[in-house]
Amino acid sequence: MSNLTNRRIVLVSRPNGAPRLSNFRLEESPVPEAGDGQVLLRTLWLSLDPYMRGRMSAAQSYAKPVEVDGTMVGATVSEVIASKHPKFEPGDIVLGYAGWQDYAVSNEGALRKLDPKAAPISTALGVLGMPGMTAYTGFLTIGQPKVGETVVVAAASGPVGSLVGQIAKLKGCRAVGIAGGAAKCQYLVEELGFDAAIDHQSPGFADDLQRACPSGIDIYFENVGGRVWDAVAPLLNDFARVPVCGLIAQYNMTKLPRGPDRTPQLFRQILTKRLTLRGFIVTDFNDQAEAFARDVGSWIRDGKIKYKEDVVEGLQNAPRAFIGLLEGRNFGKLLVRVNAPSGST
Ligand code: NDP
Repeated sequence: MSNLTNRRIVLVSRPNGAPRLSNFRLEESPVPEAGDGQVLLRTLWLSLDPYMRGRMSAAQSYAKPVEVDGTMVGATVSEVIASKHPKFEPGDIVLGYAGWQDYAVSNEGALRKLDPKAAPISTALGVLGMPGMTAYTGFLTIGQPKVGETVVVAAASGPVGSLVGQIAKLKGCRAVGIAGGAAKCQYLVEELGFDAAIDHQSPGFADDLQRACPSGIDIYFENVGGRVWDAVAPLLNDFARVPVCGLIAQYNMTKLPRGPDRTPQLFRQILTKRLTLRGFIVTDFNDQAEAFARDVGSWIRDGKIKYKEDVVEGLQNAPRAFIGLLEGRNFGKLLVRVNAPSGST
């Protein structure tokens, strides 16, 4: 293996505000060898996800930051190319956490074997992976949808939001998506069957949202925060549920926004409307992994759930694509095709 070169993308410096290309560097080094009980992986697909912005920062959070000069972290689908573990052999396809690089050595416990015949292997990073599980568990467990209720979801064309809206429809709810731009809104209604989609970039956004929710909002699946939350909050009904999943509009914030402190108003609303706001991290619901795989797997097979992937070619393009994710330039689950499987042309 020593004649192979590993390309990896490291964090050069922590961003102040939006990440820039200069925060990343592509480095080359020899490929490590697998030790006893380990496997050597070659990355086929790398998932790019909003949480990676948090890992670039030293601020305290639910997970440790990436070290400066460390390899950027990320979930991957890889091919086993050498194995010193009896459970794996070359050619196996595995889900793991190899990060932004071509090759990685991994222990068995960090890997899950994938069956390429069961579903396209890239879906293990999207609709059938962590983002899909986030949507399924957060929406059903915290949202508690009931037939006829109005569900609003932000970042609705992404892997989390698009699944929330489609499950809402399956549960007999009215689904309203919030997304950036006409193309994403059109996709939500025409392809995914949302009842309405509202463009948060439009000057009339708050009024448009109100018109799309004539009976108010019973569940708001929060992926964004900021201006989107400001438009949603007045429309929440008594006993509304708000699974707080992500706050992407705030991830690049360096200080609190100026303006009046609206915390008292928010608390008054929580009290008088008896709202439930609950933050969650997908791993809180690990015990639902089996139900998720069963339900979403069968919904996809039955054509009840659709998904969209936005594929970027080449590891070297990962930093630019990641920066674009935080600006809404992706359309669907953002993936990097790092290498083709061996044997393919
Ligand atoms: P997406 O693929 O949906 O990408 C993020 C999208 O967010 C962008 O495409 C953009 O869509 C939207 N966006 C970015 N900035 C803004 C902004 N300022 N205002 C409004 N919208 C914005 O991502 P995911 O589906 O992977 O993730 C969605 C959310 O779920 C994120 O907040 C993420 O952090 C969170 N998450 C939380 C998890 C948990 O365990 N709690 C696990 C996984 C994800 P548009 O063009 O439509 O604006």
